Amino acid sequence: MRADDGQNEASEKNAPLRDLHSLTRGELAELLSSLGQPAFRTKQVEEWVWVKNAQSFDEMTNLPKSLREELARHVTLGGAEEIARQASIDGSRKYLLRFPDGVSVECVGMPSGNRLSVCASTQAGCAMGCAFCATGSAGLTRSLTASEIYEQVMHVRDDFNTRVTSVVLMGQGEPFMNYDETLRALRRLNSPDGAGIGARHLTVSTCGVIPQIMRFANEPEQFTLAVSLHSAVQQTRNALMPGVRKYSLINLYSAMGEYVAKTGRRPTYEYALIAGVNDTDNELQALCDFCEGTLAHVNLIQLNDVEGSKFRPSTQLRAEDFVRRLARVGVEATIRNSRGSDIDAACGQLKQRSLRSGR
Ligand code: SAH
Ligand code: SF4
Repeated sequence: MRADDGQNEASEKNAPLRDLHSLTRGELAELLSSLGQPAFRTKQVEEWVWVKNAQSFDEMTNLPKSLREELARHVTLGGAEEIARQASIDGSRKYLLRFPDGVSVECVGMPSGNRLSVCASTQAGCAMGCAFCATGSAGLTRSLTASEIYEQVMHVRDDFNTRVTSVVLMGQGEPFMNYDETLRALRRLNSPDGAGIGARHLTVSTCGVIPQIMRFANEPEQFTLAVSLHSAVQQTRNALMPGVRKYSLINLYSAMGEYVAKTGRRPTYEYALIAGVNDTDNELQALCDFCEGTLAHVNLIQLNDVEGSKFRPSTQLRAEDFVRRLARVGVEATIRNSRGSDIDAACGQLKQRSLRSGR
């Protein structure tokens, strides 16, 4: 028994230090109390980590120097390192961030007037395999933790040096294949002890993982939901989005009906127009039928070119046909102007490029 105790102690000593971001409030309070600190230190440290996005213990200037040194002996303060960036002529900036284990993801900041919108990733890569998506073609590396999702937003905030007014989880990855960490990140982004962004301005985009849509409908916060539809014809959608083949359009339709009944909130359908694939008359009719009489808003996205892809974007005229025809059945649709198209702002593209150039 004694020998075992000794071993446990030794392995505890050799165990890598935990990162401050991964500690719950209770764990942080416990750590500080074990260091003989008064209770108010917890709030101070939390503010440095989550509100001020401190990158080192030295920045925590309202803590005694001895405490900063002591903290550094017990926990790490891991930060994401920026390894590539691109700036668009429209003011958007796209970043490739690397976490301490070498995994990298991208995020984008899109300023507009006095607003700053951030697009963040929830996974490194994605397992869903959508045919038109650069992220999908590379497969999943790993899911991100809540603090890794949160950190992307803070990185963009600090780079623009202004308040973030909205966040869309439309970068790499499928948020609903990483549900718990995504929700934790959203709560931290929403919290006054975090980024303080209104729940309605926090949007999750999913390719349509039905069980998690139902879970999301039951969360108490007013987060916004976008669903990537891309076709209302089952065969076309199966070909474009093989990862959600098992969640049929009929079931998606009723899940979204339940979502609206439960939350009263307007969901968005994302629809990237692909010439000759999902922009035909037959596809348009199916889309009208799918949306008519629902609360949904349709976002028509201009397809971003993915290198080596056989898909081409539809024309602007065709996109306008879609808006007109949808309006006739009472469905509101907008053509999303493609921000940062000169910087490959499509999901996964900066990463692909940086990898190819060996960075
Ligand atoms: N996995 C989630 C969120 C990340 S993808 C989802 O699929 O919804 C964010 C959005 O970018 C989705 O609507 C996705 O369909 C779209 N997208 C992916 N590749 C694209 C491309 N090449 N051009 C335009 N939109 C694309
Ligand atoms: Fe994954 Fe979304 Fe890309 Fe599909 S579109 S592969 S779900 S990131």
